[in-house]
Amino acid sequence: MPPKKKEAKQLVITDPCKQKVIYLDNNATTKLCPEAKVAMVKWLEARANPSSDSVISIKSRQLIDGASKFMLKHCGTTDKKYTVLWTSGASESNCLILRSVAEAFKLHKGITPHIITSATEHKSIIQCCNSLQNAGTASITFIEPNAYGCVSPTLVASAITSNTALVSIMAANNEIGCINNIKEIGKLVHSKEVPFHTDAVQVFGKYRILLPKSNVDALSMSFHKVYGPMGLGMLIINNQLIEGYGLKGQISGTQQKSLRGGTENVPAIAGAVASIQATFNNRNEKNKKLLKLKKQIIYELEQELPRGSYKRYFAKDAPTENEFILLGPEDGFTNQTLPNTLLLAFVKNKEFEGKEFKRLCNTKIKTDLNKKGIIVSIGSACSTSSEKASHVLYAIKAPDKIRQGVIRVSLSDSNTPAEVSIFTKTVLASIRKQMPF
Ligand code: PLP
Repeated sequence: MPPKKKEAKQLVITDPCKQKVIYLDNNATTKLCPEAKVAMVKWLEARANPSSDSVISIKSRQLIDGASKFMLKHCGTTDKKYTVLWTSGASESNCLILRSVAEAFKLHKGITPHIITSATEHKSIIQCCNSLQNAGTASITFIEPNAYGCVSPTLVASAITSNTALVSIMAANNEIGCINNIKEIGKLVHSKEVPFHTDAVQVFGKYRILLPKSNVDALSMSFHKVYGPMGLGMLIINNQLIEGYGLKGQISGTQQKSLRGGTENVPAIAGAVASIQATFNNRNEKNKKLLKLKKQIIYELEQELPRGSYKRYFAKDAPTENEFILLGPEDGFTNQTLPNTLLLAFVKNKEFEGKEFKRLCNTKIKTDLNKKGIIVSIGSACSTSSEKASHVLYAIKAPDKIRQGVIRVSLSDSNTPAEVSIFTKTVLASIRKQMPF
């Protein structure tokens, strides 16, 4: 008897946009802005394959070419010097540049390429580098960050060897929020005639990166982090790098000069331009507002709970009181950190009197916040054995008790002071259940 066929279950998804939440996880993704939505809707039903030659296809080709020129202008350059490749997101952009440089270098120079990156990069870089190394395609140096998560330009430069094919250092870290000095890194890397790539996902929507001035040869970004569509990213590459190394694509096909095959996502590209225009409208004011909200969170927490210093955990007189700390550059508000990102650690240094010491658990904090409709990220679960443990926290050598109480708040341009207050009240109430203060 043939086995009985299982009835296909209907997939029911409740309307994901209607749920009212206080969304404080904007480094993970942002809400599509209305301008991008309008631009995308116009193209959603168009039968406009940009590689065909119908009238509407020609229009979509013009849209893509115009969008590429717009992005290059936004990055302080032109198509004479740089090429835009439209990808599915920053993960693809990162893998594309790493793999194509490694393969082209090996093919042309006949030696195994060396790639320098950092221990705090996004997993798409770390895993791609590990797989290149495991396959014997490249050797990799992972630069360790300082206690704040920043990468030292001189450490990067001193790791360069005669077979270094590429240096790839992120512009800002998505968990800890620290901003790397990519201009200085690029300058030192160029002085040794090595190309420089940066994963600029978290900076792209906050500050303009002028590629030639910042000494950047290749840049990855993702539009769903800048109020644009999901599933669309960009890799911008210096033409000299493409030609000099003879770069080849990783997805076969004739589109995009054969450097990235596959029909371009026309509606998303239309939305991408609109999202950048909208995001950079009054950008300075928006960044100031983000910074103000960030300061508000710190201020409101400080009213209830002492604020400590991360570095003291490595000193002889380590803290003994329960407290919170802000990970990342010390004062938290310098130009070394993203204006929207706070990596907070609630640290239990004192035992409940007469009770057995119990560690703090950030998953419990997240659950309490979720119950009130507040969305944050914890990056790593409080269980130290978790496979999801944050490699960034390990890279800055955060002790167990700091890792256990970490939560990341990443703000958007539309968050309000009232939302932020609800967050601080709720998080303090949750912490109080786990440690006295
Ligand atoms: N790089 C950084 C720094 C990120 O924060 C992310 C996403 O969180 C990515 C890369 C991956 O982007 P995408 O989701 O577009 O693949």
